[in-house]
Amino acid sequence: MIVNVSEIKDGGLSLDLTRGPGWLGGSEKSEVASVDSDIGFHIDLLRTSGEISVRGEIGFMAVARCSRCLSDVSVDTTVEVNLILSPSEAERKEEAGGEIDYETYRGRSIDLNDYMREQVNLSLPYKVVCSEGCRGLCGGCGRNLNEQQCGCETHEEDSRFSVLKDIKI
Ligand SMILES: [Zn+2]
Ligand SMILES: [Zn+2]
Repeated sequence: MIVNVSEIKDGGLSLDLTRGPGWLGGSEKSEVASVDSDIGFHIDLLRTSGEISVRGEIGFMAVARCSRCLSDVSVDTTVEVNLILSPSEAERKEEAGGEIDYETYRGRSIDLNDYMREQVNLSLPYKVVCSEGCRGLCGGCGRNLNEQQCGCETHEEDSRFSVLKDIKI
């Protein structure tokens, strides 16, 4: 995902790219969620007085664990990209807040790989439930109560406390 600055003409440059999950490198594998499809990028680059504006959208399917019953849940994920690239550190803008990221580039090409990887990793879901009505795991026997009832009487308890109860100090 390296763009030659000279390729960005007056009318801008649109990129439609696809990367497999392997492109992420797996260095920051999350225990909770991961990318479960190809990653689609639609990026519009525009040159404005030395700066390059990068706007677009990243789309992919993520798979995450239901925080109640631990089953896998697919999450359709879309990330908005809104980035301004300046030619050097010196011209970096410091603007607090807002929805725009500021980065710099050097030379005649811009490498969007790291930034895009970061956007994907940051947007992985970290707390999902398979459905609002998910009944979770039984705190007594660990059974998935969406699939099967059990004979325990601990269903109403928060499973965290049930676990604590079993620890003998
Ligand atoms: Zn669930
Ligand atoms: Zn049970």
